[in-house]
Amino acid sequence: MGWGYGTNSEGREVGYTVEATCDFPGCEAKIDRGLGYACGGMHDRSDDPGDGPRCGGYFCAEHRYTHTRGPDGDACRANDDAEEDEAE
Ligand SMILES: [Zn+2]
Ligand SMILES: [Zn+2]
Repeated sequence: MGWGYGTNSEGREVGYTVEATCDFPGCEAKIDRGLGYACGGMHDRSDDPGDGPRCGGYFCAEHRYTHTRGPDGDACRANDDAEEDEAE
């Protein structure tokens, strides 16, 4: 199963061959819609507390760990995957 190109559950074009910009409002960083940029490291939105929550968006390295899910402002699971590098 490859993720080079396809559509997700919302019908968006996804995959690492799909050129896109960050889904964070106002951010125009160029990314692709591969797993490396997917919220939570996986395609598609999820509300499962064990698996997600993920918004199904695709974000640049900066916003992948800082965005929230819509106006309610709940942080996505992506924060769990943030590098916990406290060397600084
Ligand atoms: Zn998200
Ligand atoms: Zn961004």
